[in-house]
Amino acid sequence: MEVWPYYGSRSTPTGGINGRITKLKTKEETVYALCDANSSEIRAYIVISPFGKAVPRFAWKSMYKMLPAVTIGRQDKNILEKAIINGFHANLTFRAKTVKNKVSYNTIGYIPGEKKDEILFLAHADTQINTPGANDNTASLITMLMIACELSKTKRKYSITFAATGGEETGHVGSKHYAEMRKERGDIHRIKISINFDSLTYGPNMIIYSKDKELSNSIAEIYKKLKLRGSPKIINENDNLDGEVFIKAGARGVYINTRGYDETKLQLWHRPEDRPETVDFELAENGFLVFTELVKYIEAKG
Ligand SMILES: [Zn+2]
Repeated sequence: MEVWPYYGSRSTPTGGINGRITKLKTKEETVYALCDANSSEIRAYIVISPFGKAVPRFAWKSMYKMLPAVTIGRQDKNILEKAIINGFHANLTFRAKTVKNKVSYNTIGYIPGEKKDEILFLAHADTQINTPGANDNTASLITMLMIACELSKTKRKYSITFAATGGEETGHVGSKHYAEMRKERGDIHRIKISINFDSLTYGPNMIIYSKDKELSNSIAEIYKKLKLRGSPKIINENDNLDGEVFIKAGARGVYINTRGYDETKLQLWHRPEDRPETVDFELAENGFLVFTELVKYIEAKG
């Protein structure tokens, strides 16, 4: 079976853990455990992947940091169930290592406008260890660059900042760092709107997360007006990823992704299969069209 260890999980002892598989029920999810054959003590956790095949998840804020913990793919759930019924033993072996002093970077671009008030675009430039990250998030990053290229051609009313952030996948440290820098510089208040692009190309149905109804409705209306494939969906929740710090600092914010609709594309999430040939160029183009229009709409409104 393919397994992925949790980030922040502990290593198994040398030689691995041999034990019996049992099923646990926690509040949030069904979890399997590898238990000592004699004492029945839990020695490791096995969790079914939330989306498809085995993926790394974060152990930091959960019980999974206390013991070795892994995910397995949904397709292997039946094997586990059979192993429980038949009382089979299993072996789990992996080595976890903490790597110190790793560095990540933000790359910031800025188009000065007539006003100092800013629209901030964000797209994370990092990815996870087991994936090339073509859809999550290189294609969105390229969409942001296309927008930057287009909007830089003529004089702008609003100033526009483009942030390719590092460290999103490890606790949004890049955007937090950028926000801190803007606070120190004393100009974070200039950011009036934060637009965060994440995995725009997984599927045609754009999901618009925002508690700002005017902003989310404007995006959905532009989408419909352009007669693009798919239908946008608004979710009344604020961006709690890279854009969160800017919303907390007073900006209106929106988080855009396409996760959760096209199941076949979602199976790419944080997987080695998230490769360039899986990116649907039309969806990158759609993001470009919608958000260049949005900027023009915001500018027209003043
Ligand atoms: Zn992402």
